[in-house]
Amino acid sequence: MARARRLPRPLFLALAALLVTASIAVGFRALVKARCLAVTGPLVCRVETPQRRVALSFDDGPSPRGVEAVLPLLARHRARATFFVIGQSVEEHPEATRAIAEAGHEIGNHSFWHSRMVGLESQPYLEELERTDLALAQLGIAKPRWMRPPYGAKFIGLGDAVDANGQTMVMWDVEEPSRADTPESYARDLLAQVRPGSIILIHPMSSLRELEREALPLVLEGLDADGYEIVSVGELIDGR
Ligand SMILES: [Zn+2]
Repeated sequence: MARARRLPRPLFLALAALLVTASIAVGFRALVKARCLAVTGPLVCRVETPQRRVALSFDDGPSPRGVEAVLPLLARHRARATFFVIGQSVEEHPEATRAIAEAGHEIGNHSFWHSRMVGLESQPYLEELERTDLALAQLGIAKPRWMRPPYGAKFIGLGDAVDANGQTMVMWDVEEPSRADTPESYARDLLAQVRPGSIILIHPMSSLRELEREALPLVLEGLDADGYEIVSVGELIDGR
């Protein structure tokens, strides 16, 4: 009878160690990117409500180009949104930042440098959050209630820092379709995920995001047609 050949013991141990390390890495990545779970600190990813209301949130920037594209569309649809801005871009583009606030939209903190904040220490992250709040305060904009982690990545240090800064992490439950190649397919795939209480994430700011900017009118029209009221994250969470 043929006997199964065994791997030599050192090779077996090396493979086992590799598997364990890979599983931990995959598990860690899933944990830090989890949309509705934080290891530390308060987090919201959607709101349970029977009302047909959704929050629209825009990440990164602000950039003059993105703001000029988005604000008139929101006004036309009487929609309010939350803009998660990067402190460095706020300092670079004070006029675009002011325009968002003056149009009645909400502003959230999206870090100062937009790096992955997955460390254990909270102090450096707290300083970054405060620096972004300060950049906004210098433009007369109130301290944001919400913080969105860059790349949706968070771990112990960031959760503690957000908590210490009196803010709440806001993630999302409606994600941009990664494979859409036309504005129409982008809007269709995004709208298919929407339900009452959803928080929608869109990136319209970078010069590379022409598709997102072109899809936005279709997204807004689709939400209108489905009878959704479009509000800021704060309005959705407060239920008013
Ligand atoms: Zn971002």
